[in-house]
Amino acid sequence: MSSSSQKVTVATTWLDGCSGCHMSFLDMDERLVDLAEQIDIVYSPFVDAKELPPQVDLGILEGSISNDEDLHKAREFRAHCKVLLSLGDCAVNGNVPAMRNPFKLDDVIERSYRENVDLNPQIPTEGVPQLLSTVRPVHGVVSVDIFVPGCPPQADAIHYVLTELIAGRTPDPSQVTRFGA
Ligand code: SF4
Repeated sequence: MSSSSQKVTVATTWLDGCSGCHMSFLDMDERLVDLAEQIDIVYSPFVDAKELPPQVDLGILEGSISNDEDLHKAREFRAHCKVLLSLGDCAVNGNVPAMRNPFKLDDVIERSYRENVDLNPQIPTEGVPQLLSTVRPVHGVVSVDIFVPGCPPQADAIHYVLTELIAGRTPDPSQVTRFGA
């Protein structure tokens, strides 16, 4: 993986998840200092830039596709990123957000916003993204190149994958396979 600016450009975002995978990214601790010499984070909750550049070397998505904003963001990342990485079990297999899939969406909303609410129960309709009827993993809506499972993935796994990609190698999936731990 290479970039005209020498550094590998990286974009990250979270979809439907808990941000724990991004916290695991930060758990690389002092290794982040070395990585900062090699990568340029051009879009992320970690940085101020709020516009995805037209071309990015590596896109990292945490979380599942649960609403129309997640769907839009995943498609945007796929269109802008040369390599797309699913980070964590929510992105890789739906994980916790997909637990609603056996139920009808209307029943889930009713249960969440009316039945289990004592004070002023109401279903939000304005300024909130539209929920999709079924939660899907990222590769359920766009093609994904690299999968890093785990809830969250270990910082060591994230570091391994990033260093392999930066070196122009394809990460060995057996080094990062870890579901639900
Ligand atoms: S995989 Fe786990 S840590 Fe990552 S967003 Fe989902 S619930 Fe959070």
